Amino acid sequence: MQQRQFGNIRITRIVESIGTDFQPLTFFPETGPEDWESHRTWMLPRAMDTASGNLVLVFQAFLVQTSHHTIIVDTCVGDDKPREARPSWHLQQLGTFLPLLAKAGVTPEDVDYVFCTHMHSDHVGWNTQLRDGRWVPTFPNAQYVFARGELEGWEKLHRETPQPHLIDSVYPILEAGQAKLVEPDFALDDEVWLESTPGHTPDHVSVRLASQGAQAVITGDLIHNPVQCLEPAWIMRADFEPERAKATRQKFLDAHCEADVLVCATHFPEPSFGRIVRRDDAFWFTYEE
Ligand SMILES: [Zn+2]
Repeated sequence: MQQRQFGNIRITRIVESIGTDFQPLTFFPETGPEDWESHRTWMLPRAMDTASGNLVLVFQAFLVQTSHHTIIVDTCVGDDKPREARPSWHLQQLGTFLPLLAKAGVTPEDVDYVFCTHMHSDHVGWNTQLRDGRWVPTFPNAQYVFARGELEGWEKLHRETPQPHLIDSVYPILEAGQAKLVEPDFALDDEVWLESTPGHTPDHVSVRLASQGAQAVITGDLIHNPVQCLEPAWIMRADFEPERAKATRQKFLDAHCEADVLVCATHFPEPSFGRIVRRDDAFWFTYEE
């Protein structure tokens, strides 16, 4: 278990799984084999799997405990979810998420907020769980904080092409009256607030944390792999608005470079905690073990 404590805030990574089936050329579809030549050496074995040459992606939630709140940021892929478009997630039954939460001393009932950086299926899965054939909120006492524009953007997509993860992981939260629709600059209090980081999805947000002068940010999917610190212009295949995603990533890297902000990079390899520093004309991610 990886934890960070600063001021009154403790961050615990809840790792559902680590994926190694992401081929670089399809994950970043605008790249060619030659683009990877200078990166392979430093990426192996942490950010690139030695056996397959595929990218390593962690699927995790961040448990954020402040003096006032118990918050889960993003809820991974989930168990039992029908995801026919992605066979490795389809009806998966890993059984890792809730036991790790319990190991951190937290029951589902303890969680009072679930923050959702965006509504891709690997960030909303444990919003709900299957009980007696129905999808019910996993966290019965929580308010689920969704950016209004994110929900509206996905509902528009859903009208054009049905989105299974809305049906099983988002709508049950709305139906239970547990959704709190907010603007992308929503602040829970002076320790926890959202920051608009659009492009990857319609109204993507990151989560900012501050306590006693120390700061952290949970990125969500504005960046996916440390190679994008060196190559901020590389577009990830699911970036909804590629140019906007690129601009957001560049702005984020500029803003956090050499800044005293702990970066909790959602999909980065373990330990996923680190700092952005300058490297030549671009950036570099220094892990904090
Ligand atoms: Zn993701």
